[in-house]
Amino acid sequence: MPLTHTLGFPRIGARRELKFALESFWHGDMDAPAEATLRATGAALRQRHWRLQSDRGLGHVAVGDFALYDHVLNTTVLLGALPRRFGFDAAQLTLAQSFELARGNAAQPAMEMTKWFDTNYHYLVPELDAESTFNGGPSWLLDDVDEARGHGHAVRPTLIGPVTYLWLAKSHSPGFDRLSLLPRVVAAYARILTQLAERGIDWVQIDEPALCTALDTRWLDAYDIAYEGLGRLGVKLLLTTYFGNAAPDLAQAARIASLPVHGIHLDLVRAPEQLEAWMRVLPAHTVLSAGVVDGRNIWRADLRAVLARLQPLHAALGDRLWLAPSCSLLHVPVSLEAERRLDPELRSWLAFATEKLDELRVLSIALTKGEAAVVAELAASDAARASRAASRRVVNASVRKRLAAITPDMTARSSPFETRNAVQRAALKLPPLPTTTIGSFPQTPAIRQARAAHKRGELGALAYLERMRAEITLAVRKQEALGLDVLVHGEAERNDMVEFFGEQLCGYAFTENGWVQSYGSRCVKPPVLYGDVYRPEPMTVDTTRFAQSLTDRPMKGMLTGPVTMLQWSFVRDDQPRATTARQLALAIRDEVADLEAAGIRVIQIDEPALREGLPLRASDWPAYLDWAVEAFRLSASGVADRTQIHTHMCYAEFNDILPAIASMDADVITIETSRSAMELLEGFGAFAYPNEIGPGVYDIHSPRVPEVSAITRLLERACEVIPPERLWVNPDCGLKTRGWAETEAALTNMVAATRHLRARLAA
Ligand code: GLN
Ligand code: ZN
Repeated sequence: MPLTHTLGFPRIGARRELKFALESFWHGDMDAPAEATLRATGAALRQRHWRLQSDRGLGHVAVGDFALYDHVLNTTVLLGALPRRFGFDAAQLTLAQSFELARGNAAQPAMEMTKWFDTNYHYLVPELDAESTFNGGPSWLLDDVDEARGHGHAVRPTLIGPVTYLWLAKSHSPGFDRLSLLPRVVAAYARILTQLAERGIDWVQIDEPALCTALDTRWLDAYDIAYEGLGRLGVKLLLTTYFGNAAPDLAQAARIASLPVHGIHLDLVRAPEQLEAWMRVLPAHTVLSAGVVDGRNIWRADLRAVLARLQPLHAALGDRLWLAPSCSLLHVPVSLEAERRLDPELRSWLAFATEKLDELRVLSIALTKGEAAVVAELAASDAARASRAASRRVVNASVRKRLAAITPDMTARSSPFETRNAVQRAALKLPPLPTTTIGSFPQTPAIRQARAAHKRGELGALAYLERMRAEITLAVRKQEALGLDVLVHGEAERNDMVEFFGEQLCGYAFTENGWVQSYGSRCVKPPVLYGDVYRPEPMTVDTTRFAQSLTDRPMKGMLTGPVTMLQWSFVRDDQPRATTARQLALAIRDEVADLEAAGIRVIQIDEPALREGLPLRASDWPAYLDWAVEAFRLSASGVADRTQIHTHMCYAEFNDILPAIASMDADVITIETSRSAMELLEGFGAFAYPNEIGPGVYDIHSPRVPEVSAITRLLERACEVIPPERLWVNPDCGLKTRGWAETEAALTNMVAATRHLRARLAA
């Protein structure tokens, strides 16, 4: 029977047990009893998840995928490669110290956090330099192995592979080549693998997703060197690749296949086309782990179609064929069992982590015993597929018709930027260096409580509306007092920038407990975009019109863009992402038109997630950027010249996609820049970004109030690279996580710095 297994399981818990245990540990005194409680929660989750895997007949249970905070941090700890600036002794690292690495302490900022490949999971970036050592820290991995064995499971440890570990790392020493650390890192891995071999471990999963990115020869050589040293230490290695194609050509497949590993895992959901190459080069004894169940999305697999693809593989490989999800299940919620309110039809189309393991079991039985052994399961899968394909909630003829009627002129403003700019200047009459904010103002406990009460039905619609209007009025008055030029309503009524719109669009559904870890204890509950999207009625017009009625200054309408809506949702797998993006774009385009008709003169369409949608290989970027930019333009281009369109992006590193950002043709872009000390802005300057731009002048992630002098300095530098007549002044991002006191203090300083500079420019 083909062995079934998973590369990892969500660790946060079906009821987010880990989140709550972590937060009470952090907010409490972090003493020994609190630590014991947190550790017990971790152990209980691990045991529950191993049991779940065993019960579903998985041949191995994954061990080592669990982490209290982050699995990359865990690898750093295991290797003993802690950033030296913390001054911790790796061998003696305490739990409290490991959280200081993740969250910072009084003396040191946290380790940098960034997105795990193209997912919305954030890992802690290893910080390495020439002096980095890898002498080992606390061996939590061996502890977890012993723990799982103690419960009688067939244990397969998982580790991030050495080359991917280095690939994920950053160095603060300029010019430092992290591959120079390879021998040291390999020695550390050799020690760990030897320990596992001594424990009698048979297989070890070693994750090398970097293989799915574009690697140059030096990095490919690193694989040869690393695995030459690790492949013969007495444990069998399952080299796992995921999130893309690990064999862009036959030569690379042949090269990887010849590494001394005993198995290779492929993501056949994202990159089914790679299978052919691998089948040609796979050595006679190597296991092929077929990742056939989507680990990145929540749709039930079409079991019959998957079986049809697996049957020839099974015939060719026999027991050398293993079955798995495409990647770790970290990226999907734990179980549908926790969804009691989901519409039954929609529910029948879904599979979360636990249900995906069931699918593997069915596939494995069908391959060995024949389809007759799983008649009911296959019938249920067929029925789900048929109902999804035919459902009236999925297919909407008028949406399709509208999509087919999109013409090129709909994705371009009627006049070029210069023309629009002149009209907008005359209409808006803004001072030089106009000041604004990114949209949200503090989401105070009172606002959250009101929303929660409204959701529970304890606060009626009218009372809730009045509460929100009071918050909007407060935000407008404060902005006028601060002297800001373009105002926002403050987004008090929005829980989340995607959920807020998803709830009002047709084609979207929401889960009760579909939580996915974003970082540490933070989880998101991505909405499920299951059907053709349309907007039954205006979503923000009443609120924005109300806000505008409070002031003579321009009120910025605030929308979430199509690419961000797509990127932060679980989206359909039955049509191209580009098509879904276009449907979202049309819905937002209608909202933009209605805002304009309601007298709103400035409209911001946020696209903070545009960059994270970039494919792993740069060669695939142009195709993505083409449709992503087109979707934005479709949403933004239905307005008159006098209406000023803004967009906002955050999370730095945009310099490599500047031409695409410019081709979005927003009248104004506001971007996060302060953390990269205007480095980003230099890119915009060198590229000669053509439209107006508002580089963030202070970091909203920190409670620190920026000094007037610091903002002035940043603005002066900005003026050196961007013509001052095209410059705006604003914070890095929305202010919803901040308090009012710090927000008002920071904005007071921002306005003061701007006035200094205006005076100087006028002189
Ligand atoms: N308008 C949103 C806000 O201010 C933008 C958030 C974001 O960029 N992530 O909250
Ligand atoms: Zn932002």
